[in-house]
Amino acid sequence: MTQHIADAFQFCPRCNARAEDTGNSPFRCQECDFVFYFSPVAAVGGIVVNSNNELLFIVRACDPGQGKFGLPGGFVDPGETLETSLSREVMEETSLKVTHANYLCSFPNQYTYRGITIDVLDVFFECRVDSFDSLKAQPGEVQSFHIGRPSIEILDRFAFESNRRAVEFFLTQE
Ligand SMILES: [Zn+2]
Repeated sequence: MTQHIADAFQFCPRCNARAEDTGNSPFRCQECDFVFYFSPVAAVGGIVVNSNNELLFIVRACDPGQGKFGLPGGFVDPGETLETSLSREVMEETSLKVTHANYLCSFPNQYTYRGITIDVLDVFFECRVDSFDSLKAQPGEVQSFHIGRPSIEILDRFAFESNRRAVEFFLTQE
């Protein structure tokens, strides 16, 4: 069973009063006026390209979407810009250094983990790297890599529709 985060707030986290009405954003406690917004979380994804115009895809090592294809990326940490988050995530997951990043597009997404679904805004960048020579998968996050042009079979096996749409958008821009 999965549940949206807004439906999981059955009680006020501050005063413990039972919520009269769940599922709305913001959550408003009638007892103590506590307010909480379930606004989308920012996430970044990189379409990583080398000097031969080859693309890099990851095979996910964990859920959601274990064994499926994806793009390097992840949630933006507090205090980060999209650009620093992107460079950090690409470095963590692939050991590659991003030399240039250009904004491509964004798509809304949802992320379900341990039965709770949150709203996410995925922001995609084209990431240039010198080469894939130093490629190294982050244990526990990345199972393996796929390098090259994406076939329809690969696009069909993406964990997230937003990632697939970003790749398709990138291919129309080339
Ligand atoms: Zn309260």
